[in-house]
Amino acid sequence: MITIKDKTFVPLISAEAIQARIQELAEQINQEYADKHPLIVVVLNGAFLFAADLAKNLTIPCEITFIRVSSYRATESSGQVKQILGLNESIEGRDIIVVEDIVDTGLTLAQVCDQLQEKGPKSLTIATLLFKPSALQKPLDLHYVGFEIENRFVLGYGLDYDGLGRNTPNILVLE
Ligand code: 5GP
Repeated sequence: MITIKDKTFVPLISAEAIQARIQELAEQINQEYADKHPLIVVVLNGAFLFAADLAKNLTIPCEITFIRVSSYRATESSGQVKQILGLNESIEGRDIIVVEDIVDTGLTLAQVCDQLQEKGPKSLTIATLLFKPSALQKPLDLHYVGFEIENRFVLGYGLDYDGLGRNTPNILVLE
């Protein structure tokens, strides 16, 4: 159990379970990309630990790059528009694996994937550590999912609460 500011979080997924599941996902990727040379696009900040542990278990040749997603409100009617920051390499004709920490409503990743698709990759798949199916608002094809979880706020292993709590080896849930 940890307390951050006014909130208490209790363990949800152990460090051992996370590592075991990541090894399974990496084996799947190793098989499915055996004859490919993918570019792994890591969405910062939350996916940094997941991406690092996943990458350590990949045996295929791959490149790894990092992006951020900024939100700005273009107009009242269009709502939150996301912009990809930091993608300096061309993804045209490349096999892309987007690595994300958590898919909640799916709105962020849907916009990110739409913008990446416009750049003409050969293929694009998504690897997310966590997925809240009951919160999903936008259909998304999630190829690699670590864990499906309930629609509750989680923290740890890269995910934060108000900037804090990213540095735990396990995942905790708001009590
Ligand atoms: P979405 O666009 O899918 O609703 O949300 C995506 C982003 O919201 C995630 O990348 C993550 O940064 C944040 N997020 C969604 N659910 C949670 C949660 O339970 N805990 C934390 N710490 N962040 C979350």
